[in-house]
Amino acid sequence: MPEGHTIHRLARDLEELRGGPLRASSPQGRFADGAALVDGASLERIEPYGKHLFLGMSTGDHLHVHLGMQGTWLRYADPAVAPRPQVRLRLATPEVARDLIAPSVCEVLDGDGVRRVTAGLGPDPLRSDTDVAAALTALSSDQRAIGTALLDQSVLSGVGNVFRNEALHAVGVDPRRSCRSLDGDLLARLWDVLHRMMGQAVEDGRIITVDVPDRLSTPESQSRRVYKQQSCRDCGALVTTMTVGGRTAYVCPAEQT
Ligand SMILES: [Zn+2]
Repeated sequence: MPEGHTIHRLARDLEELRGGPLRASSPQGRFADGAALVDGASLERIEPYGKHLFLGMSTGDHLHVHLGMQGTWLRYADPAVAPRPQVRLRLATPEVARDLIAPSVCEVLDGDGVRRVTAGLGPDPLRSDTDVAAALTALSSDQRAIGTALLDQSVLSGVGNVFRNEALHAVGVDPRRSCRSLDGDLLARLWDVLHRMMGQAVEDGRIITVDVPDRLSTPESQSRRVYKQQSCRDCGALVTTMTVGGRTAYVCPAEQT
């Protein structure tokens, strides 16, 4: 599933749709009514929030997209290229087309609708308006394991399974430990790691947590320190796996306690 960095990177890439009226269509037909509402409007604001993307249109409407497990955007430098039949939404300028395929959410919301969605989302480490103190308070008072809380989008937004595993490894914390057992300094370090790691992933366009000179040519399978690794890339200890918060946790038993 795309994690928050994918959405923030996408928000940056979609800047090219701004500037004039957009043609909006639903080649698949499932979003025909929604596309008709915003067809001809221009894109005024691009707002990534965790794993959610809000596109504020000149009509006052907002396109709300969540990619879920399967969703993706395709880009065509020639907007005359025929879309694939499964495209839920095409947004096109005279220069470029962006096609949305298989999102879990694609809908038109008014301002209240946007606020209802964002009210249920925890602080996003990638947003500049994030209230860090509130994020740390929410984590420190959570009754659950830290590995469970980190995946809960109402606690923090944008953290998925890769960031969870890599960030907990970076601070030496076992995902099964309760949030309440972690002191304020440790939680602040965890936040800093997430902020830095996620920000780097926006720049890289993918999650690379190993420290190598030529980051972007690192194969995907060797880009993480513990996530989907046989052995820890820091110390060589065999990585152990378990289910925490419904997803597989990868732990270095030598470094995470
Ligand atoms: Zn290790």
